[in-house]
Amino acid sequence: MESEIIRIYPDSHQVRGSSGYFMAETINGNVLIVSGSDMEHFEGRLVVSQGKACKLCPLTVENSKTVRKLFPFTNPTSAAGHDASIGLGDRLGVASPGHIKLIRGFDVFPILAQQSMRELNLTGRTYEDVLAAAVWAVFREGYKKGYGADGDHLKTADEVKYALRCGYSMITLDCSEHIRNDLADAEQTAIDAQYGTLPPDVRSELENEYLNTPYIIDKGIAINFTEADFRRTVLIYLEAINHAAAIYYDLIEGTGVDFEVSIDETQSVTTLQSHFFVANELIKRGVAVSSIAPRFIGEFQKGIDYIGDTDAFERDFAVHAKIASRFGYKVSVHSGSDKFSIFPAVGRLTNGKFHLKTAGTSWLEALRVIAENAPELYREIHAFAMDNLAEAREYYHITEDISDIADINNISNDALRDYLGLDSARQVLHITYGLVLMAKAPDGATLFRDRIYKALREFEPEYFDALGKHIGLHLDALGAR
Ligand code: ZN
Repeated sequence: MESEIIRIYPDSHQVRGSSGYFMAETINGNVLIVSGSDMEHFEGRLVVSQGKACKLCPLTVENSKTVRKLFPFTNPTSAAGHDASIGLGDRLGVASPGHIKLIRGFDVFPILAQQSMRELNLTGRTYEDVLAAAVWAVFREGYKKGYGADGDHLKTADEVKYALRCGYSMITLDCSEHIRNDLADAEQTAIDAQYGTLPPDVRSELENEYLNTPYIIDKGIAINFTEADFRRTVLIYLEAINHAAAIYYDLIEGTGVDFEVSIDETQSVTTLQSHFFVANELIKRGVAVSSIAPRFIGEFQKGIDYIGDTDAFERDFAVHAKIASRFGYKVSVHSGSDKFSIFPAVGRLTNGKFHLKTAGTSWLEALRVIAENAPELYREIHAFAMDNLAEAREYYHITEDISDIADINNISNDALRDYLGLDSARQVLHITYGLVLMAKAPDGATLFRDRIYKALREFEPEYFDALGKHIGLHLDALGAR
């Protein structure tokens, strides 16, 4: 066995009764090594080393489930009781040990597993293996302070059930398909006509609640509805509220799972009135939301800084934060990678009580490490991304003009990393991740996927370093020390 082992992960040692555990890197990848009577619980290969038997267990989903049963600290848990939390989506399933090393220096609860259905489809992964990757990372790092797993942007009851069945500790319900965006710009006569079709008792109850007195959110901050705005808000959001309440009562209530309601993936900005209306209706119906993700003003594009007027953002965000704090849930900021110009405001205006989701930035840091250490591979990925941009734009929205991305054939190896400092290139590299990972040669072999994993294994210390630095800057700016 010794000849197979490249290194042992020193923080992975665990003892349970008379059984011993540790994780190691072998020539065939990472394994869990178990000795003692617990061996019988795991699938793996029995070996004898220095007269002692032990089992080399591959890092499968099945073995991760056994680890979760035997070591409760490896189970995802609710973020309740933690003010700041950060989603650290790991699309490749290899970044989480680096994420754990990073967050040890901060006062923040990590959501290590976080994937949307779209990300699962684009990476060819399942909720089982996304969670298993987090479990192995937690075991490898001996991390016992708790972490979450977020079934992100789920739209249907079946999707929610799937994530819950796998043991996810957080559900982000994406209500976008129930938000009537088409009414945002409708003529008032059309709004009035539609509003008139709502049952009279629903209308009168809502009117009594919202049209008589303004809601005082805080000193000098009141939420007022004009009758015209009110009717429009009701029509746009009522179905989404009903949907969220139904999912909550059918599937979430009593489970201890964190429930985030996302209304961010819509064309129109969430007004303060709309945020208040959605929150107040959910809470009135007894839905225990742990966070709400509004669509804020300005642009939150993937992997680059905030686009828009930061002063206007602060003024608007301040009230969103007050609404959340009045009801006792967190404001959730999606597409939170690299939004450096607004992080200080997010930290300050929420008094450190926020949820921020990142994912793309860990993929881009992987590419940075590949650009610096495996330039030939980077060149191929880059060229492929440029060639396939049109298809990627179908999944992700970017407005970036790409004419400033220099032809890679004219760039020296030393300068490849500069692409990761250029917004347009970052966006191209970000949105093409699924196509890059799933690309196949005519013989069925992957074009890049296996080589990306191999490079990140080889340059793992560099990768974890890059994650620590870059995401550390996020947390510093948010004031999460
Ligand atoms: Zn979102």
